[in-house]
Amino acid sequence: MSNENKTIHDFDFNLICEYFSSVERQGPGSPEVTLKALSFIDNLTDKSCIADLGCGTGGQTMTLAQNTPGQITGLDLFPDFIRIFNRNVEYLGLQDRVKGNVGSMDNLPFEKESLDLIWSEGAIYNIGFERGLNEWKQYLKKNGYVAVSEVSWFTDERSEEINDFWMANYPEIDTIPNKVAQMQKAGYVPVATFILPEKCWTEHFYAPSHRAREEFLKKHAGNKNAESLVASERHEESLYNKYKDFYGYVFYIGKKI
Ligand code: SAH
Repeated sequence: MSNENKTIHDFDFNLICEYFSSVERQGPGSPEVTLKALSFIDNLTDKSCIADLGCGTGGQTMTLAQNTPGQITGLDLFPDFIRIFNRNVEYLGLQDRVKGNVGSMDNLPFEKESLDLIWSEGAIYNIGFERGLNEWKQYLKKNGYVAVSEVSWFTDERSEEINDFWMANYPEIDTIPNKVAQMQKAGYVPVATFILPEKCWTEHFYAPSHRAREEFLKKHAGNKNAESLVASERHEESLYNKYKDFYGYVFYIGKKI
């Protein structure tokens, strides 16, 4: 298998973790986008319970916490990310309201109908958009919200090269109207949908990754797995630059009825 055809799942977990721990975000996004998505949510009070699933090291969770009342639980599969998350929580003095836990988004540690808001930026793909929306709904209170960002096609047609890449990496990628229809079918009112600006990829995700890649390669000089991981990330970035008119991240906000 060439490096270019490897998916992220083919790499050593520890290396992936180390690589992504060194950047503030593990996926495209920005504080402005988190706040924009939050502006569509109107049910939060200091009694609210919020979960951030696939929170990573918590870039977006800290923005959420500083701009919402209520308790926030971050959940991520990787203990190293949660360690950094909880360090950030302490640093910002948010420990009374925010806590990171290790866990999986396919087996949530919450009571049924206990959450006011489920947040998930660039992470629902790990169990799939439709499955995530369907399964997570049972943990939301009536009129609770879900806010997730998900890679989506902007057009009906596209070149074979980018189509093949996404079919190999995430075949559930779909157009925005189809994703909205899936959200509605799962029992949510689709409240808002918007495309993340390009700088969420370039400035907030790829630019910091460039520095991280150099450091990572220096540290793991001669390690083929580390070189493959960086090659795969570079390939994904070059495809984004070539085909950004055809796909990107989209925020989907829904209200459980
Ligand atoms: N929300 C963060 C991280 C996105 S990257 C951000 O926007 O920066 C995707 C995250 O999902 C990673 O942190 C990864 O560890 C986590 N993840 C992968 N599979 C998971 C699972 N089954 N349950 C919980 N988290 C998972």
